[in-house]
Amino acid sequence: MALPFLAEAGSTPRIFNFASGPGVMPAAVLAQAQRELFDWNGSGLSMLELPFTGEDFKSVMWRAQDSLRALLAVPDNYRILFMHGGASAQFSLLPLNLLGGAERADYLETGYWSRRAVTEARRYCAVNIAASTGGTDFDRMPVQEELHLDPGAAYCHYTSNETANGVQFHRVPDSGAVPLVADMTSDFLSRPLDIARYGMIYASSQKNIGPAGFTVVIVREDLLGRAHPATPTLFDYRMQAEAGSLLNTPVTFAIYLAGLVFQWLAERGGVAAMECRSLARSAQLYRAIDASVGFYRCPVQPAHRSRMNVCFMLADSALTPLFLSGAARHGLVNLKGHSMLGGVRASLYNAMPDEGVSALTAFMRKFAEEHAHHV
Ligand code: PMP
Repeated sequence: MALPFLAEAGSTPRIFNFASGPGVMPAAVLAQAQRELFDWNGSGLSMLELPFTGEDFKSVMWRAQDSLRALLAVPDNYRILFMHGGASAQFSLLPLNLLGGAERADYLETGYWSRRAVTEARRYCAVNIAASTGGTDFDRMPVQEELHLDPGAAYCHYTSNETANGVQFHRVPDSGAVPLVADMTSDFLSRPLDIARYGMIYASSQKNIGPAGFTVVIVREDLLGRAHPATPTLFDYRMQAEAGSLLNTPVTFAIYLAGLVFQWLAERGGVAAMECRSLARSAQLYRAIDASVGFYRCPVQPAHRSRMNVCFMLADSALTPLFLSGAARHGLVNLKGHSMLGGVRASLYNAMPDEGVSALTAFMRKFAEEHAHHV
């Protein structure tokens, strides 16, 4: 008898997971992992059992890194690292690795996650808030003219997509000669990138990469070798680059799954195709919000709205729990907004089937009709 999941894989799933992370995984990838769980590549061993120093796991690691390099057209003078500790660890590892004797860094303060990055960076250096949109509750990203950049900064950090606030940069800020660093945790692999504009990019794996467990760091080679002497060896970018991210036992199963996701992405047209899909799907959802004549409201200015994390409120916030429980009964799960901000958040990562967005907008229309008297 077919296992229940295998029977469902490839067909339209009935549950649509809008979680902000760990987020939805491609059904085809889960089905392949299920098939290979007991016997990877005819080895008779599970992927979970492969030693990380052996040729089998190394081939999985190199393939994952090569696929990622190809997906994003990463130039040869950039190194791809798979690091431990999540994106939160990078909030500290970035200053530890890139200050290189400098005492100042620029940060753009644009929401919950960039604030977290700033708080951590202040433990290591003087932070210049080059721009902040906190005055209007992070309802947009700053424009280039608003940036007050410090030419003596070691780097300039920004968060390309604010996962909690639902606000996203749709252009790359210009930091001049100062290396630009981006936390791309929640919009990585959702659109093509011109990597050459960055000194470094980082993204933890539990959104568009899929499995939780590691953080991708893409760093320009000339920025390696500046780590503060007290940086743990394991978290020194140069040491990890030299060791091929194998300084100690990596999260082997997560890296294997990520490799399958990269392959899945490439087969579906890569990041350019993902950008088209995310544009269409987020537009569909924002149209449903804006067409509700005030029943739903997105606090983010239209030109700055996130295509990955669509955040909205109900005009009558007392209805939010009812909306969330009703949605869950329709198979639309994990729509609760960030704990600090409330409301509703629909994360539209690459693996979200288009049908999920149509099902959500249909539910939103029905719910608004049924509760219209509350507006
Ligand atoms: N930055 C952003 C933009 C995020 O969305 C998150 C997680 N939601 C983080 C950093 C922290 O990631 P982690 O939990 O992997 O430390």
